[in-house]
Amino acid sequence: MKIYHLQCGVIKGLTYQNEHLICHCLLIETDNNGLVLVDTGLGYQDLINPQPRFGFGFSHVYAKPERDTYLSAVEQVKKLGFDPEDVKNIVLTHMDLDHVGGLVDFPNAKIHVHDVEYQTAINERNGLKTKMRYPKPFFAHNPKFITYTEQGDSWKGFDAIQQLEGLPPEILLIPTAGHSRGHTAVAVQTETGWMVHAGDTYFDPAEVTQPNGIAKPGLALFEWVNQWDKQKRINNQHRLYDLLQNNPDVEMFCAHNPMELHKWQNQSTLPKQRIISHPSQF
Ligand SMILES: [Zn+2]
Repeated sequence: MKIYHLQCGVIKGLTYQNEHLICHCLLIETDNNGLVLVDTGLGYQDLINPQPRFGFGFSHVYAKPERDTYLSAVEQVKKLGFDPEDVKNIVLTHMDLDHVGGLVDFPNAKIHVHDVEYQTAINERNGLKTKMRYPKPFFAHNPKFITYTEQGDSWKGFDAIQQLEGLPPEILLIPTAGHSRGHTAVAVQTETGWMVHAGDTYFDPAEVTQPNGIAKPGLALFEWVNQWDKQKRINNQHRLYDLLQNNPDVEMFCAHNPMELHKWQNQSTLPKQRIISHPSQF
């Protein structure tokens, strides 16, 4: 199994240590199950013109994504020498707009996600905030969703969803609700231990590496505005802190931190993508 760390978006409206936030996705080349994406970041068309699907606020006010089609997962899959048709499966941490933009670029892939997230985004759609974080156009191409609920499996003290349909047993969903209603982390077993893509469970590494750590003010505000359940979000950050403290074989990163992405890309021996790193405008 080979794991590529892709940068599928630059969020110029939010910074961490003077660098813009990014969208950190994984491309996993499995031994017997083809290519698997974990999250998709922004899609090809969105990187040309984000407003039609992301709306004015995301495009021009608080996120202001970099416009560069090179950042799309589909372009990077091609650049690495693969055929996008070979991405047969996509695992989502959750269904917020900045994680599902690339779904449309892989129209034949099966999409694996927690059932609560799916129901919230597709069927229930209660309230303005829900409608804004899960805009309908992202799902208009009728993606093939496969949804899951907890069935009693566990992983290092967490509930776990194992044996995703058509995927190797090394890829697990770890429910971590709080940021969104059906949010999950995605754990991947490697030759040396476990790699956990924590999605938006945290935005600042301090939240999971320091006891009762809190995010820097701008990120803390963003987390608070976008959370579904504050107490669940904080509880899960504390549980991830304990996980890291008690399990030296577990490493972790979140979806949007540029330093974590640099670290993982730098230590990878696989072909690297150009890293876009802009000085803060603030
Ligand atoms: Zn996000």
